[in-house]
Amino acid sequence: MTTLKPPPLRNDCFALPAGVDWTPVDEALALLQERLTPVVGAERVDLDQALGRILAAPVVANRANPPHPNTAVDGYGFAFASLGEGDQVLPLVDGRAAAGLRFDGNVPAGYAIRILTGAALPDGVDTVVLQEDVTLGGGEVAFRGGIKLGANTRKAGEDVQAGDVILDMGRRLTPADLALLASAGVSQVDTYKRLKVAIVSTGDELVEAGTEAAPGQIYDANRPMLHGLLHQFGYVGIDLGRIADDRADLRTAFDRAAAEADVILTSGGASAGDEDHVSALLNEAGAMAEWRIALKPGRPLALGLWQGTPVFGLPGNPVAALVCTLIFARPAMSLLSGHGWKTPRGFDLPAGFTKNKKPGRREYLRARLREGRVEVFKSEGSGRVSGLSWAEGLVELPDGPVEIRENDLVRYIPFECF
Ligand code: AMP
Ligand code: MG
Repeated sequence: MTTLKPPPLRNDCFALPAGVDWTPVDEALALLQERLTPVVGAERVDLDQALGRILAAPVVANRANPPHPNTAVDGYGFAFASLGEGDQVLPLVDGRAAAGLRFDGNVPAGYAIRILTGAALPDGVDTVVLQEDVTLGGGEVAFRGGIKLGANTRKAGEDVQAGDVILDMGRRLTPADLALLASAGVSQVDTYKRLKVAIVSTGDELVEAGTEAAPGQIYDANRPMLHGLLHQFGYVGIDLGRIADDRADLRTAFDRAAAEADVILTSGGASAGDEDHVSALLNEAGAMAEWRIALKPGRPLALGLWQGTPVFGLPGNPVAALVCTLIFARPAMSLLSGHGWKTPRGFDLPAGFTKNKKPGRREYLRARLREGRVEVFKSEGSGRVSGLSWAEGLVELPDGPVEIRENDLVRYIPFECF
């Protein structure tokens, strides 16, 4: 197995086409999808460590499942070819076949054997009659004619053949995948190392929840939110704390983040104002693109590389920070993590609201589903954190103008579908 690190990202991977003023969301996403590649190395892990991990190589079955032909029911087994016409009466051989306990004799033609679910079919048996369909007595079993060859049995390898590719590279392992791996005799898998994401909040006004806040100060809401999101995505969050609006402090934090993490996620300071040090620093490093995306909510995103490590500079407003994380950072990080590009799964459902949307920007509203209809939060203010918590997903409105009336279909994306 390889322990090689993948090649670095290209320095211009976040460059936007020249001359474009506001980049449509789809165009911005297409650029990210085209240019980003996995940035994490691989490691072999045991199955008990593999849940939620991403396969760095396809997995091949070591063994067939089931390994032997066996019975799917409790009943009586015999050779189909030994049956005559009509109703049947077969003498029973001594002994029985049970799961894990192979019957090592041969069942002669014209005889039957007691057999229990999961037992390998003994030699001479290819068909099983259900115990509910027989009568027993005097060392014989009787049942009606008409049973089919191979009835109530499972063929060796009917589920998986040895050597089959059972899971593809890039798959995120589910509990059921672990069952598949175990049943195919696979106890270890090659997975990508978990993506490590450094989280930095920026702003002189921010203080930590649980501490005294002076007038003019606010509590840092983005860091706990971003940590939670990263945890749900299966990444490792590295908390680099709050950084004041100070170029030197931010540079130190970026240096540390680039040394420890695969991705840097910042919030605040991403526009082009005097105190927008995230964009200023990335500009200085020469690998920065200010992404003016036609998106609401979301002011410019600052995307860039710091010493080769991709930086997603999110807007400071918690609502915009969440939307930009879900719409841009989420699929981009998915690609960086080896999981591949991820398009959120949405559902077209009747609106429980009305709205007259102007052209120019794609819009995301905080929403939830109640009684089959999509409700939106009462305010679109991007500082309304309570609305984020109220919401269970987002409504995506198209770039162009739309007039939404009650019960028109709108695209609803539950948070867990990002
Ligand atoms: P900025 O993008 O830095 O201009 O910030 C935009 C708005 O979001 C300002 O009102 C900030 O105070 C607020 N803000 C920035 N970062 C955070 C944060 N971590 N938690 C809560 N609000 C924030
Ligand atoms: Mg700020």
